[in-house]
Amino acid sequence: MELPGHLPTSLAVIDKKIVKCSACPRLVKWREEVAITKRKSYRDEKYWGRPVTGFGPSDAKVLIIGLAPGAHGANRTGRIFTGDSSGDWLYRALHRAGLAKQETSKSRDDGQELFDTRITCAVHCAPPDNKPSTKEIERCGEWLNLELDSLFATTRAYLALGGVAWKATQKALIEIGEELPRKRPKFSHGASFKFQGSDGNTRMVIGSYHPSQQNTFTGKLTRSQLDSVVRKAGRFAHAGKPL
Ligand code: SF4
Repeated sequence: MELPGHLPTSLAVIDKKIVKCSACPRLVKWREEVAITKRKSYRDEKYWGRPVTGFGPSDAKVLIIGLAPGAHGANRTGRIFTGDSSGDWLYRALHRAGLAKQETSKSRDDGQELFDTRITCAVHCAPPDNKPSTKEIERCGEWLNLELDSLFATTRAYLALGGVAWKATQKALIEIGEELPRKRPKFSHGASFKFQGSDGNTRMVIGSYHPSQQNTFTGKLTRSQLDSVVRKAGRFAHAGKPL
C-alpha cells in the first residue's frame, strides 16, 4: 500500500486496490469461506466474498465510518451496510436526515444514492464474530488513511459508529497530518469534538453506538438516538447551506 504523497490518491484508484487486497490471511479465508457456505436463506445468491469499499461521492461532506462488512450483509451484496439489519437502521436515519435517496439498502443495484455523504469502514473484510484483531485494524487503517486523505478537502463531519471506528478515525486523521485537540472525549454515543483542519476549516468528529443487532435489539441504541447523531453530522457539515 502506498502512503499519501502531496496529492491525495483518487478514491477510484484506492477502491480498485482495496477490492484486490489480501493482506490479512485470516480475513481472506473467512470472507471466502462465508461466500461458499452461505446462509440458508441466501443459498441461491452469489456472495461478493471480497473486500468491500466505501460507498458515496468523492466530494462527501459527511464521512461515516463503520466497523467492517457483515458476513451475510455487505460480504454478500458487495456494498457497505447493505443487506442486513445494521444497514436498514443506518440508511433509514440517513434518509430521514436528507442524506440518502432511499430508506432501505438491499443490493448494489437498488438505486440507492447518498447525498454529500460517504460510508466506509475501519476494516474492509468481514471478520469472524465481527471482531477484527488489532493487527487487522492496523493493517486496514492504511486504506482508511488514504480514503480520509482523498476526501479531506470536502469532509467536515466524521461520524464514527462504535469504539473501534472512533479510535481508527482519530488515528487516521493524525496519520494524515491533522492536529487534534489533546483533550478529546472518551467514546460514547453523542461524544464529539471539533478541530481546525490544516486548511483552516473546522471539522467535527462525532461518536455513535454502532447500529448492530447487539445494540439495536437490546435497546442500547434507539432509532431516535441514531437519527440525532446523523442529523448532527449532516447539519454541521452543511452549516450555512440547506440540507
Ligand atoms: S481487512 Fe483490509 S487490509 Fe486486511 S485484507 Fe481486507 S482490505 Fe486488506
